[in-house]
Amino acid sequence: MQATQGYAVKSATSQFEPFKFQRRNPGAHDVQIQILFCGICHSDIHQARNEWGNSTYPMVPGHEIVGKVTAVGKDVKKFKAGDVVGVGCFVDSCRTCSSCKDHEEQFCEKHLALTYNGTEMDEKTPTFGGYSSQIVVDEKYVLSIASKLPLESIAPLLCAGITTYSPLRHYEVGPGKKVAIIGLGGLGHMGVKLAAAMGAEVTVLSTSPAKEKDAKRLGAQKFVVTKDRKNLEPLANYFDFILDAVSAEHDPNMYLNLLKRGGVMVLVGVPEKPFALQAFPLISNRRRLAGSLIGGIKETQEMLDFCAKHNIGSDVEVIPINKIPEAYERTIKGDVRYRFVIDMSTLK
Ligand code: NAP
Ligand code: ZN
Ligand code: ZN
Repeated sequence: MQATQGYAVKSATSQFEPFKFQRRNPGAHDVQIQILFCGICHSDIHQARNEWGNSTYPMVPGHEIVGKVTAVGKDVKKFKAGDVVGVGCFVDSCRTCSSCKDHEEQFCEKHLALTYNGTEMDEKTPTFGGYSSQIVVDEKYVLSIASKLPLESIAPLLCAGITTYSPLRHYEVGPGKKVAIIGLGGLGHMGVKLAAAMGAEVTVLSTSPAKEKDAKRLGAQKFVVTKDRKNLEPLANYFDFILDAVSAEHDPNMYLNLLKRGGVMVLVGVPEKPFALQAFPLISNRRRLAGSLIGGIKETQEMLDFCAKHNIGSDVEVIPINKIPEAYERTIKGDVRYRFVIDMSTLK
């Protein structure tokens, strides 16, 4: 076993503190990774504070991991020491169920080993995430990084990137399609960049008027402030696809009327509280409401390669590890441009 340094919360209400724990020695198929950067996803906040009711402690969050390979097991083929690699939201799955066989491991029917706040395949050993010095992961669940962009801007692709890329691809967003992104945060700003790179016309629906200039720079043609519902009226029956990436309580019903006939709205945001769904906006125009969860390993690699080809990274604010509490507070206020990323060299 190997001593590992991390940052953990011990309960839903406690502050982050240094935390020492053990990682396994690399097995035959394992890759050992020194973590260089880790993004702060809003899911880290939801889980650190037990807002989804499924948290276990101590918890070392972090599933937007970029690092350097320091050692590989004897049967590892894809990676060697010195390679730059990524790890996302899960580190293993059953590999035999129909979802795993279809390269959609995120929907594993037996057991998905989440990167943190989960368990390894023995369903007992707790997993600890990327707010830590190093991680050991089976090579099948490690991603290759070919991008020339700064590594801190790549880390958020491992969750925010794939979570927006996957539904955009699934619903065939591309040239001629009108897309709306609700919530210009970590996920939302990646959604704008990716949908624009796929050739769609992009509109940002935001509660923050100050983000208009950024939205346009990121690739949006239109920007609409949603606080006054009247602003949405000209967009009735307009969009083919809407991505709802809002982290907090809001009313998704008000956006359904913006879909054209047969259009689809996909929820990726996971607010703490449920909402009441109105039937009329859905039955009119045969609209669809769907959800989407991150993406499989194959599609995550495809997304990373797409981003490398199109020079797409995340817009980031890099912070030392002791600034996590401030970063959490600012993220909750929607005051992040557009992802906080921890520089792991500041972990002592
Ligand atoms: P984030 O960076 O905090 O962004 C959320 C954005 O939502 C904010 O920037 C803000 O944008 C908007 N917003 C915040 N509070 C709001 C409110 N009360 N009403 C309306 N809009 C509000 O969060 P994130 O990391 O992108 O994550 C977004 C959500 O997706 C979280 O719930 C997270 O857990 C979830 N998530 C899901 C998956 C998945 O696989 N489905 C993966 C990762 C994350 P504006 O200022 O533009 O309004
Ligand atoms: Zn995430
Ligand atoms: Zn499976």
